[in-house]
Amino acid sequence: MKKYEAMVLSCIDPRFQPKVYKYLRSKNLVGKYSSFTIAGAGIGVTHKKFKKWHSTFWDNFDASIKLHKINKLIVINHQDCGAAKIANKEKKFNFKFFYLIVILKPYQ
Ligand SMILES: [Zn+2]
Repeated sequence: MKKYEAMVLSCIDPRFQPKVYKYLRSKNLVGKYSSFTIAGAGIGVTHKKFKKWHSTFWDNFDASIKLHKINKLIVINHQDCGAAKIANKEKKFNFKFFYLIVILKPYQ
């Protein structure tokens, strides 16, 4: 079976699709990740404002762990995120384009 590396969680913002792809290509991850794209990326799957979305993300993440044997979640948020503004009532979150890699233990 082919070895996949991670699920990538990123925002729906069209301005960042090329940047996300470019970043993943620079990390030699093209063809090695499953993708979950939702408004706000990490904010969309954690902030109480978007509570209805959370279980969909976790169910998909769980499916990718089982199907693709991934052991990482790569979260890519970005500057000037509309979902962050919705969640934070128009105040900006103070972060730049960044990524966070969480290394999970595989299922026993
Ligand atoms: Zn966004």
